[in-house]
Amino acid sequence: MAWSFNLGTFGGTQVRVHVTFALLLAWIWFSQYQAGGSAAAWQGVAFSLAVFACVVLHEFGHALAARRYGIRTPDITLLPIGGLARLERMPDQPLQELVIAIAGPLVNVVIAAIIFLALGSTVGLGEIGQIDNPQADFLARLAGVNVFLVVFNLIPAFPMDGGRVLRAVLAFWLKWSRATQVAARIGQGFAVIFGVLGLFYNPLLIFIAIFVYLAAAGEAQNAQLRDVARNVLVSDVMITKFASLQRSSTLDEAVELLLATTQHEFPVVDANGRLEGVLTRDAMIQALHKGGPGTPVASAMRTDIPVTHPRRSLQESLRIMQAASVPAVAVADETGRLVGLITHENLGEMLMVRAATQGFRFGRLRRGPGRVGL
Ligand SMILES: [Zn+2]
Repeated sequence: MAWSFNLGTFGGTQVRVHVTFALLLAWIWFSQYQAGGSAAAWQGVAFSLAVFACVVLHEFGHALAARRYGIRTPDITLLPIGGLARLERMPDQPLQELVIAIAGPLVNVVIAAIIFLALGSTVGLGEIGQIDNPQADFLARLAGVNVFLVVFNLIPAFPMDGGRVLRAVLAFWLKWSRATQVAARIGQGFAVIFGVLGLFYNPLLIFIAIFVYLAAAGEAQNAQLRDVARNVLVSDVMITKFASLQRSSTLDEAVELLLATTQHEFPVVDANGRLEGVLTRDAMIQALHKGGPGTPVASAMRTDIPVTHPRRSLQESLRIMQAASVPAVAVADETGRLVGLITHENLGEMLMVRAATQGFRFGRLRRGPGRVGL
């Protein structure tokens, strides 16, 4: 993720912090300083750091559970709104997803339980509820935050853990893509409720509602894509008419192609038509800014482009594209010559076509076109 810095790597997982999180800490320091002086300011920052340590442990709960099934977690990113563990791939079985999703909140249950045991009977339930009262006991408030994290994360809506739990439970009976659709619908129902409550009580809820609504739509589309990709070959959907660049081409020529075509990704090939790399529109503009129009495209292209074969299943390309976050997958024939490209845009178009033709097959459009656009 852009705009984040590295805190260190633990057990193969890099922990990153987004810059906005540092800004949040500064804001907390200042607002507490104005309210109660420097002691209160540092206590506010210490409390925030303790909360985010709990969030990191929550994410490591997911990561450790995923590792049990051989799924690596390359990184965990801390954002002001919470943590984000990026798994290398999705689990295959509903039970695996259930265990991975529930492992996070379980960590917060354990932390809260340990604090309750440590505090014994010296603290009443009232103090735990006073999360935002700096006068209340530090540990009691931290326990309260952990209880909140469990409840919030178990709301059955994507992208919360509860959404994944719901999908996993549904997937015991339904097909994975159908389970996702149903879970996404339920999540969007919750988003609407948040939105309405937000209008009356707290505007922050409206932002959460929009966030949850979009996440549900994205998740449903992803599942649909995976489902379709299972029965489709790379050659069925790859782009076969595209412009490419030579290794010796300059940015000048690349810009000409950018304007003349609708492409955003340009393959760079050698004299035998083999792929050398891919020049994206963004990389082109950046290089143009730094080096000028005479810069060779070879210095700005990405060379880590995965290559697949036309007869392979699309599912594999999809998996590679999501895991490695590459702009495109190249398709080469037996001789290594570039014959096609698969891009994100291209996959979105395939879904739109599928949705439209499926509607015809069943006599009516089952899904509105708005649900399938990327
Ligand atoms: Zn979680």
